[in-house]
Amino acid sequence: MAKVNLEREPMPRQDPRSRGKNFAEVALGYRPEQAKAEASRCLQCPKRPCVGGCPVGIDIPDFIEALRNDDMPEALRILKNKNSLPGICGRVCPQETQCEAVCVLAKKEAPVAIGRLERYVADWERANQQSVDSSPAPSEPSGKRVAVVGSGPAGLAVAADLAKLGHGVTLFEALHVAGGVLMYGIPEFRLPKAIVQAEVNYVTSLGVELKLDSVIGKIDTVDELLNDGYDAVFLATGAGLPMFLNIPGENLNGIYSANEFLTRVNLMEAYRFPEYDTPVKVGKRVAVIGGGNVAMDSARCALRLGAEEVYIIYRRSEAEMPARREEVENAKEEGIQFRLLTNPKQFLGNEQDWVVGMECYQMELAEPDESGRRRPVIKPGSEFVIDVDVVIVALGTTPNPLIAATTEGLETTRQGTVVADEAAGKTVKPKVWAGGDIVTGAATVISAMGAGKRAAASIDAYLKELA
Ligand code: FAD
Ligand code: SF4
Ligand code: SF4
Repeated sequence: MAKVNLEREPMPRQDPRSRGKNFAEVALGYRPEQAKAEASRCLQCPKRPCVGGCPVGIDIPDFIEALRNDDMPEALRILKNKNSLPGICGRVCPQETQCEAVCVLAKKEAPVAIGRLERYVADWERANQQSVDSSPAPSEPSGKRVAVVGSGPAGLAVAADLAKLGHGVTLFEALHVAGGVLMYGIPEFRLPKAIVQAEVNYVTSLGVELKLDSVIGKIDTVDELLNDGYDAVFLATGAGLPMFLNIPGENLNGIYSANEFLTRVNLMEAYRFPEYDTPVKVGKRVAVIGGGNVAMDSARCALRLGAEEVYIIYRRSEAEMPARREEVENAKEEGIQFRLLTNPKQFLGNEQDWVVGMECYQMELAEPDESGRRRPVIKPGSEFVIDVDVVIVALGTTPNPLIAATTEGLETTRQGTVVADEAAGKTVKPKVWAGGDIVTGAATVISAMGAGKRAAASIDAYLKELA
């Protein structure tokens, strides 16, 4: 057997010294010779463990083999057969805990860079204006109609699969653009909006009807959709309601939820000021509270909008941070300062009610809690003050209660998530399925897509029984 290169091809990236001042994409993508070299590291394992690590079951060795043989249309067809959003997943999937974690080469610390290769193939499609037919066989129209509520990754995945199977799909979206968090949350420098738009366009090209500015629960309820002739409804409204610390001073001006801050930056295009007139104040010193991807994205946006000092305030240590390692490293390289084992006690304001400081506790780690991570506890007498001009709270989100409040017969949890069975996304309400963050709480793009695909199979089986 040929010897495998243990090192994987590095991802070319924008220089950290200049990229903190622009919103252009940080990771630049493999060059053709790099993609070929990386693809040649794949061992084409007969047991294909990597496929089991992908929540949508991409035939990973097959698309890599096609890439290696310079058959790009075939590589694309294999990818799109299971994944309608490869350009997105290749960029933001937490590959290191999914497909790449179970690659046999991971034992030697350098798994095949599956996500980067996926991105390479998806980018080739756009650069060459190619499109492939990924449907297994052309499906006859079934005459059945499905309403999908919410156009994030879960809604897009279910819509694409059901359309490929011949069902009539209407995708209702509350905002004026489709894509969910991919559009309004994840910043341009990690996920360019043109790529999201191109993948949304692919889904509508399959025959999905997209209705924007359509808030279900306001224009129509779920029951009204069913009464209007939809045979099934899939709920994919995500988890867009921010959580707060509930400490004194949190209502001061200059304190944003990450959700509001990132929406202003991404969707309302504050980053293109003065071309776009969206007000977003960052001042000189910005504190971002939290240790997940959302916190890293907020901090890196604040830096790009001109803040001089940006702090990540996190109550545990770096080992417990839920953000992707790659994003933590990117943030550090750009000059974001990490204030670990630090937790806010109260916010301090000036006479005009603008935030000017944050009194914090120093924390230490005790034994692990129910999450398995070491529990942070306050160091007695450790209070100190950090001066700030703006604070961004990135502590997580829960589902918006509108759908649950306007839909009779749905079961919800104390956290506000909708109860649905994991295998098929079926809720306790007849004809209604749900998946993605509305069921799991804030999670990942690929887990939302996996839920969408499983629900599509279950809805398809149900619709076939009706026929
Ligand atoms: P969403 O993407 O939230 O989409 C829900 C859609 O439903 C939205 O468009 C919303 O407007 C619409 N909607 C809501 N209510 C209604 C209604 N009543 N009627 C009609 N439409 C409605 N995951 C990763 O895998 N990797 C990452 O790097 C990553 N980074 C992230 C960074 C940020 C800043 C954020 C916020 C999240 C990140 N995530 C990441 C998480 C990931 O984006 C989500 O888990 C995923 O988008 C959830 O998909 P979804 O389809 O369930 O919901
Ligand atoms: Fe891996 Fe995500 Fe691509 Fe699946 S979609 S192969 S988990 S990068
Ligand atoms: Fe290739 Fe890794 Fe999958 Fe084996 S496990 S087929 S080496 S990607």
